[in-house]
Amino acid sequence: RAKTEGKDTYRYFEASMGAEARDKRVMEHELRQAVARQEFYLVYQPQKEISSGKMVGFEALVRWRHPTRGDVSPAIFIPVAEDSGAIGQIGEWVLTAACEEAARWENPLTVAVNVSAVQLHNTNFSRKVHETLLNSGLAPGRLELEITETALVKDMPRALATLRQVKALGVRVAMDDFGTGYSSLSNLRAFPFDKIKIDGSFIKSVDKNGQVAAIVRAVLGLGRGLGLPVLAEGVETLGELKFLDAEACEIGQGYYIGRPALIEEFGDLTGVVAPAVGSKPATLRDRS
Ligand code: C2E
Ligand code: MG
Ligand code: MG
Ligand code: MG
Repeated sequence: RAKTEGKDTYRYFEASMGAEARDKRVMEHELRQAVARQEFYLVYQPQKEISSGKMVGFEALVRWRHPTRGDVSPAIFIPVAEDSGAIGQIGEWVLTAACEEAARWENPLTVAVNVSAVQLHNTNFSRKVHETLLNSGLAPGRLELEITETALVKDMPRALATLRQVKALGVRVAMDDFGTGYSSLSNLRAFPFDKIKIDGSFIKSVDKNGQVAAIVRAVLGLGRGLGLPVLAEGVETLGELKFLDAEACEIGQGYYIGRPALIEEFGDLTGVVAPAVGSKPATLRDRS
């Protein structure tokens, strides 16, 4: 459309691109201050064994409470933070907060933390992980790092060396969003993953769509052949869960199994008893 409608449209298009670039610079600037201003917090989403419904762990998901714009999705701000370099600081905050939180749980569940490509390629990444484990007191076997394939392709030898270093600490690594990247199969062979997370886009309507079902069955077969458990992301319906159970998919995560929420909401699962309701400080809402 922009082409056929001539110059004015093109200029308008250019102007809006400029505005976008400005927005991005503003956001980059805000992100650099956001850690110090304590604008980030974590929500946790349950991961459960499908056959038994038993809880196995939580994925920590970062949230940015922007002072004026409200909650900003990580899908929007993580890429900006990666471009600007702010991801280093943000990623360290996430790792520290998640490990400190998990170390408090009575139940020795795992905590899964997303690691961005930029973080993974920082020279001292494995040292940071080691220090965080020591400082938090979390057993290394309870930490799982979720890494996407795009994080691997940038510099494969370096990514491999880093994954080997964190694995040597006793930390586990999961391939995140499996099926959406490229050269997935060779990556599975080349890198020492402990788990495959099938992307949610392949779980949507898996019980109703034969093509999607064929893909998911193939990934489950792959996991079995490689001796890797498979986690299905984005399980939204009972039908999808039943399909995964029938196909012996090991672990499930998604709105049907449990929505991401503040860890206090999961006291029954973590074994950490929340303070009595009456002891909470009054909030504006309580008084209104
Ligand atoms: P991801 O690691 O694949 O995380 C799963 C995303 O799917 C989360 O979105 C989660 O809220 C959402 N989700 C969970 N269950 C369902 C479901 O049943 N249906 C649907 N439609 N969605 C579901 P979220 O929290 O918005 O995060 C988006 C992405 O941002 C994450 O994808 C991850 O790549 C990135 N991200 C989140 N937290 C962090 C972080 O601390 N560090 C880094 N580097 N990236 C993060
Ligand atoms: Mg993830
Ligand atoms: Mg994912
Ligand atoms: Mg994702």
